Amino acid sequence: MDIEKFQNIVVEKRSHCVICGKKVDASIIEFPDFPMTEIYSDELVKEKTGVVDQRFHFCTQCGHGQIANVIDVELQYGGASFYYYRTSESARGRESADFFINFVNSIVKDRHFKNIIELGCNDLYVLKSLQSRADKLIGIDPILIGRENEFSENNIIAIGDFFENVTLDEEIDMVISLDTLEHVSNPKEFVKKIVDKASNETIFFFQFPLLETLLDACRFDHIFHQHLNYFSLKSILYLLNDLGCELIDYKINSNHWGAILISFKKGKNGAKYLKNIWEITVPEILERYSVFKCSMDAASKRLSYIRGDKKIYGYGAALMLPVLSYHLGNDLSCLECVIDDDKRKEGLYYINLPVKIQTRENILDIGDSIILITAIASMNNVRQILSKLIPLNPKQIILPLNLI
Ligand SMILES: [Zn+2]
Repeated sequence: MDIEKFQNIVVEKRSHCVICGKKVDASIIEFPDFPMTEIYSDELVKEKTGVVDQRFHFCTQCGHGQIANVIDVELQYGGASFYYYRTSESARGRESADFFINFVNSIVKDRHFKNIIELGCNDLYVLKSLQSRADKLIGIDPILIGRENEFSENNIIAIGDFFENVTLDEEIDMVISLDTLEHVSNPKEFVKKIVDKASNETIFFFQFPLLETLLDACRFDHIFHQHLNYFSLKSILYLLNDLGCELIDYKINSNHWGAILISFKKGKNGAKYLKNIWEITVPEILERYSVFKCSMDAASKRLSYIRGDKKIYGYGAALMLPVLSYHLGNDLSCLECVIDDDKRKEGLYYINLPVKIQTRENILDIGDSIILITAIASMNNVRQILSKLIPLNPKQIILPLNLI
């Protein structure tokens, strides 16, 4: 791997709110030298690599959260190509996709569509589930570059590119997009481009993380370089209103990072959901951030109090582990290794963490050891790991967050 390109990384700075256009206020949280995620390395990297200053801003006008510094897409996602995530391969991915499909069905009932388009279609699991509902289904995702033929079949067409680069001739009557809008540097332009193509009958379904959920659970570890946008219900309504659209309905999937699923169409009846808005304030965000920092500090101190030659293992080589390490203020070199059940990660390191990943069959002394849960991004993951660990009876299990 070319380590050098992950040093002295150049970023694009966002000076205005991407939803309402207001000049950003001072950042409310700073993350100096914040690590990139999802980049594994074959060998231990000793130099300072894969870190970029980051800042979190909150717009008091429209209620939108955003990070200031945007890392180049190629650098951010190109290096992770080894770990191509397929929705259909993980039970969790299928479960959240099915939740989304149920939401779609509950709104469109038995309506048949001419053209359904999905922006950020991953392995087309969702489109395939909707296959009988439309004459034609088009999936667009840059991860499919060069694999279009592998994924296209019958009435499904895969396009391996960024939506921003694609010209569409078809009349689109349903648009869906899961877990994509948070990654887009200009979400308003992104949604506007497809809204402009739509008719009054076109129905839209989007899913993305919700700021209220992050704040409810004090999950500031969910702020990271890849998520550029942190929508609140208020900023969603602001955006839709600005684009001449109205919210039809929304739902929260508490098993999938507390993401919000929204359905909307062109129209002007935005007032219906205004009463549901939480007018988030900066002091409220900062108070919750301090609760998060307290649990991180407590876990970090527990690690530092472990004396003698006791062995400590991490469990779960999560994509987001560098972010946990950052908040713990610990490079995790105190761990023997990070245990993971995915054999593809055996022997790897993170580009920005000096700790090796090993599969569980090589570790025979879990019962005599202390375990730090290192895959905390999803609560379901934590629960699964705990159910595996408890029968192995480790000396202690340290949960960085006091929340499962
Ligand atoms: Zn704003």
